[in-house]
Amino acid sequence: MSHNPWAANVKFVNNQLTVAGISATELAKEFGTPAFILDEQDFKSRAKAFTDAMKRSFDSSIVYYASKAFICKQVVGWINELGMGIDVATGGELEVALSMNFPVERIEVHGNNKSLAEIDRAVSVGVGCIVIDSLQEISRVAAAAKKYGRTQSVMIRLNPGVEAHTIEAIATAHTDVKFGLSIASGVAWDAVKEIAKYPELELRGVHAHIGSQIFNMDGHRLTIERMLDFMARYKVEFDRELPDVDFGGGFGIVYTAEDAPLAIDDAVAQIKDAVVEGCAARNLKIPHVAIEPGRSIVGPSMFTLYEVGTTKVVDLENGATRNYISVDGGMSDNIRPGLYGAIYEAHLANRTSTAPTETSRLVGKHCETGDILIRDIDLPSDIKPGDLLAIPATGAYNRSMASNYNHVPRPPVISVRNGAAKVIVRRENFEDLLRLDLL
Ligand code: PLP
Repeated sequence: MSHNPWAANVKFVNNQLTVAGISATELAKEFGTPAFILDEQDFKSRAKAFTDAMKRSFDSSIVYYASKAFICKQVVGWINELGMGIDVATGGELEVALSMNFPVERIEVHGNNKSLAEIDRAVSVGVGCIVIDSLQEISRVAAAAKKYGRTQSVMIRLNPGVEAHTIEAIATAHTDVKFGLSIASGVAWDAVKEIAKYPELELRGVHAHIGSQIFNMDGHRLTIERMLDFMARYKVEFDRELPDVDFGGGFGIVYTAEDAPLAIDDAVAQIKDAVVEGCAARNLKIPHVAIEPGRSIVGPSMFTLYEVGTTKVVDLENGATRNYISVDGGMSDNIRPGLYGAIYEAHLANRTSTAPTETSRLVGKHCETGDILIRDIDLPSDIKPGDLLAIPATGAYNRSMASNYNHVPRPPVISVRNGAAKVIVRRENFEDLLRLDLL
């Protein structure tokens, strides 16, 4: 169990935050701020830890990287080198994977409202699996498969009716959500029967993803039980076993010292125990097992580097004061605090300070009072314009959720390895922002 939010190669050296041997000051000078800084080795070792743990636990397994957490061409390349699969949830994510000639049989397509064009493209290129998320989608996928003369492998996204212990906005498998087909209501079974009507579709198995940033495996264990029950029913009624199962992602990470996620090995070991015991109890063969971690691979591997622009002390009505520290990014590069109250830490990155700390509010540069990165954080009282601040664990759902609000160009992603830095997503510029405008 770790409470360290930083990537493995981030250290304080000579009063400077450094990553893989390059200081925050050097990075800011060369690439500007705000910028996402990615520790390449950290990313790869987390990804590999998942694949190794799965290989140790199951005879047949695959780890799909959940690309919604963060995707770019370079990441697709690394995922391919590691022999992993990719989970895409839109046509856009699919195109990034295809642009790198990612092996299509290792692409799994998600989405609760895939467009006809997305389905057509996915089937036409021969993706390994499409995860069915509604009854309407079944005939749509079948029609595309028929058009291209293919048999398309599909899974059914089940809603197992499980409360994941996490923030409501990122829990995905209780009753009142848009995702999946409910086991309890019978609609998931309707999907099984519907799929069976189409010779162009091959039902490979069942999928569930119960939510994100989850710290204990109780929800996953209950989900596995319900999924195996479903598979056992299938065996009885169809006289065949479903060969595949996919338990989604959701493994939590450290954002602040309060967070205590399971180690990757422990999380996978718990999945293994639940599957092995559950299959034995139901007389099922151990299936091909997939998981889809996103946050737990890329989240900790990046931090965001900002420069402080202004500081202010504001008098409050109760006679107290509040310190505001404004940085050069904000809700456009990290919407999570505003969207669902996600909590982060920030650290002075260009120097150390012996000044006493004081509680401050770390805010961005956008025209919204809610543009708050950290509501209350103890930072050295001598923080001044020009200082660099780093927020750890911003690899997942930050750059991928970034916007151009206020027409700010989105920050770059800089990958650092063994003392060398490389731009893997360049900073947007004003030309990029204007290129869609037509007169
Ligand atoms: N799989 C599916 C279907 C998802 O919807 C998500 C996240 O929303 C993930 C995997 C990845 O979850 P996480 O980043 O928490 O691992």
